[in-house]
This record gives sequence, structure tokens and C-alpha cells, in this order.
Amino acid sequence: MTRLTGSCYCGAVKYALAADPIFVHACWCRDCQIQTGGPMALNAIIEASNVEILTAPPVADDMATDSGRPHLIHRCPTCKTAVWSDYGARTTILFVRALTLDDPSAIRPDVHIYIRSKPPFVAIPDDGVPVFEDYYNPKEIWPAEAAARWKAATATASAPTERT
Ligand SMILES: [Zn+2]
Ligand SMILES: [Zn+2]
Repeated sequence: MTRLTGSCYCGAVKYALAADPIFVHACWCRDCQIQTGGPMALNAIIEASNVEILTAPPVADDMATDSGRPHLIHRCPTCKTAVWSDYGARTTILFVRALTLDDPSAIRPDVHIYIRSKPPFVAIPDDGVPVFEDYYNPKEIWPAEAAARWKAATATASAPTERT
């Protein structure tokens, strides 16, 4: 792959992805909408070891969910742009906000989730990417290589989730 680079709004936090994402969520849930101010978050799931921080590191804010499990949003300390999330404070897996990449078309979703809260004025293209009303079972659609990378990075068999 080409080494993708990204940045916060002000440029104080720059990063590069050293590998392709494991899997990419287009998440249309209400949390993502409110936290980003947009119709969805494009989350590139990738090993933290494959995210190279090229400048100052982002700072984590805990946006705890109802379950009580942490949802750490890592933000630029200056402009507060969210560059990635660490759901469940796993530390080894990051959900990179892929639209902060310098080329916002570089990464496409592998799945659309929580489309029950998709605004009606945004259409999902009919391009064969799976679409789910709410969450989904990664075991059903993740390629074996993606599952293996996830397992290696988390050292657990637990499935990825945003609503943990
Ligand atoms: Zn910034
Ligand atoms: Zn979401």
C-alpha cells in the first residue's frame, strides 16, 4: 500500500499508517454523529503499532458510554480534532478517523453500521458493501486475515464493538 498520512486541523498532530486498515467501519450511530458533527464516522480499525505519530501525540478524552467502559477519543491538544478512538481502552487497537487522512478518498468502508440513524438526505451507494441497521457480527463478514490480525493485536477472542 502507499503509506497514508493524516493530520488534525491545525497540523500539530500528524500521523502515518504503516499498513492497510484491518477493517473499515462507516458508523452512522448517534454517538459518532454527535461526537463528529457529521453524518457518520469513517473508522479505520488498525493496530496501534501500525499508527506512527510523526509530531506531538494526541491527548485522550474519555467519552464514557452507558456501559461504563471507556471510550477514549484521542484529540489534538491544540485544535481538539479527534484523530482516533480507543474503544474499551484496549491500547493495541485504534479506530482512526479516516477522514482526517490527507487523501480522504484513500480508504473506503468495508461495512456500514447503525444505518438506522443515517440522515435521510444521505444515500449509501449500491456497491455491495454490507449494510446493517445496528451493529453486526464481525465473524460473519471479516476476512480470515482481518480476524487473525485482530486476534494477534488484542490477544483475546472478543469481537470488536463500538457499544461495549
Ligand atoms: Zn490540531
Ligand atoms: Zn458510531
